[in-house]
Amino acid sequence: MSRPPPAFAGHKLDRADPIRSDAARLAELARAGARLLRLEGLVPRLGEDERLQWGTLRDAPKGSEVVFLGLLDGEPLFAAVPTDGDPDPAYTRRETFAALGVLPADELALYGGARSLLDWHARHRFCPQCGGPTLLAKGGWQRDCTQCGAQQFPRTDPVTIMLVEHQGRVLLGRNARFPGRSYSALAGFIEPGETVEEAVAREVFEEAGVRVRDVTYITSQPWPFPSQLMIACHAHADEDALTLDPTELEDAQWFTRDEVVEAFETPDSARFAPPFPMAVAHHMLRWWLEKTA
Ligand SMILES: [Zn+2]
Repeated sequence: MSRPPPAFAGHKLDRADPIRSDAARLAELARAGARLLRLEGLVPRLGEDERLQWGTLRDAPKGSEVVFLGLLDGEPLFAAVPTDGDPDPAYTRRETFAALGVLPADELALYGGARSLLDWHARHRFCPQCGGPTLLAKGGWQRDCTQCGAQQFPRTDPVTIMLVEHQGRVLLGRNARFPGRSYSALAGFIEPGETVEEAVAREVFEEAGVRVRDVTYITSQPWPFPSQLMIACHAHADEDALTLDPTELEDAQWFTRDEVVEAFETPDSARFAPPFPMAVAHHMLRWWLEKTA
């Protein structure tokens, strides 16, 4: 695929896993002058140059835990765990995206990964096994329980998102939270015991009553609100009759290729508004237009 990777992909960090386990090396890198990502809570502070801003480890709030993000051009980068995680991490504010939208792709990816990791630490200060306090370990890529010793690892939650095609049209839906006339690809979390293909088939049937086959992978996107991995797929439907689950979807419809082109080119007069550019669904629809050109 010649298209650039989706938003939040394409970081340039050396994650330097051996360093995480090497306490002496980590301490050596975490010298006071090492670079620390500047954040307000979990929101990045951008400079006038519209880039991420960096201070030094001296700027970390006293007593805060510090995460080793990795090496960038050989230089160690750190970030401090905020006092609180995001109280509503799945609620993605448009203003936040507008601010993030100015960052270059590699910095957006760096920020996204840091945000997921920091938010996880801030919301996992106690052990799920015994309730005891946990402490950051392995440079921030693990938490250990101080009472029972259980180890926890940063979460990534896999989500399938799919373009279902039937005779040259794609199925898009909207839920009540979507702005305006926005339609997007159907999506849902993968459940324990499921393959990606099985999750795609189950979600489409649950939400729209459509049976699908021939599920193929398109691309993936780390989504840091709070820590999803969006697994973008394509699937075929043999029937186009829809039975919507109103708890999941306010509406779903089949759209022709011309209607998708129109949504991108003249969204105000088109049949629907396309997903915004940071969403992997936007990327998927562009991919489909290229595939069917
Ligand atoms: Zn424990």
